[in-house]
Amino acid sequence: MDEIKSKSLSELTEEIEKLGEAKFRAKQIYEWIHVKLVKDFDDMSNISAALKAKLKENYSFTKIRAERVQESKIDGTKKFLFELEDGNFVESVWMKYHHGNSVCISSQVGCRMGCKFCASTLDGLLRNLSPAEMLEQIYEITRLTGERVSNVVVMGTGEPMDNFDNLVKFIRLLTCEEGLNISQRNVTVSTCGLVPKMKEFADENLQVTLALSLHAPNDEKRKELMPIANRYTIKECLEACDYYYEKTRRRVSFEYSLVAGVNDNDKEAEELSRLLKGHNGHVNLIPVNPIKERDYKRSDKARIFAFQNKLEKNGINVTIRREMGRDIDGACGQLRRRHKEETPGVQGD
Ligand code: SAH
Repeated sequence: MDEIKSKSLSELTEEIEKLGEAKFRAKQIYEWIHVKLVKDFDDMSNISAALKAKLKENYSFTKIRAERVQESKIDGTKKFLFELEDGNFVESVWMKYHHGNSVCISSQVGCRMGCKFCASTLDGLLRNLSPAEMLEQIYEITRLTGERVSNVVVMGTGEPMDNFDNLVKFIRLLTCEEGLNISQRNVTVSTCGLVPKMKEFADENLQVTLALSLHAPNDEKRKELMPIANRYTIKECLEACDYYYEKTRRRVSFEYSLVAGVNDNDKEAEELSRLLKGHNGHVNLIPVNPIKERDYKRSDKARIFAFQNKLEKNGINVTIRREMGRDIDGACGQLRRRHKEETPGVQGD
């Protein structure tokens, strides 16, 4: 059945008219779903029983359920493990910043990109998330915390560009004026570098921030960490980023996870500086979050600062990602994996 929560207002209007109902009903229903965040058709109090019955016949009302919530004692970050209706699990993170609340969502169940340091990809891809399932992570967190979300980052499990159509639909719904109306400028989409999709994304005329997971200053090193580097070169990725900037005037963010002894020496900082010179963007340094399945270690503080300094001296904009929720399985996919280990046989995967 079609998910009503994945329909745009114009799609919904068309369908409501097909059901022989007045057009304004579509707007009311859309508001119940995307502004008032009701949990089911029955909560739409100004919609007649007859129309509700028709809706139930034609559409499903996507739900997710928080199976686990972990709260960080350090910074109040909350990590949610959500169960989807088919029994699969995804995780989302809620972070409180001075400038507002931010939610990091998953875009797929698992991932097929195979990045070496990432826990989300260890069992491959199970399936894509629908627009409704991406939205619902934010909606359910809003219901549970009682606080408005102002920033959304698509940096949880999954490769968003590998689920392109649903991603774009999701962004349009999330930032729709008649819906939750989150500013596009407050949405960030992170990709490991699916070049053709990045260009298509630029052509969507959105105002969101694009982040490229770079993690290495040259192709050779990048291939060691990220299988996708065998398909697209860094040069091609940067060309796609330049195109994105040309089209949107949004500065791209280059993600660089620092792994001790792997990609964090001064020579690599110099090489990265040369690589990024002249590209409109800034570097986000992330101390790698070690996962137990792999032997990668985080660079120590002194090394991280030295790496940052080198970039700064070379005129590259750089920040060190503030670490949130380190005490609660902060790294992508860790909570889901842990849950799976603790409850064998329960999850569909
Ligand atoms: N697939 C997308 C988005 C999900 S990952 C992408 O590759 O960008 C979000 C970011 O976290 C990416 O930059 C990813 O490379 C990084 N990441 C994944 N696992 C990590 C870990 N254990 N430590 C640090 N960064 C990690």
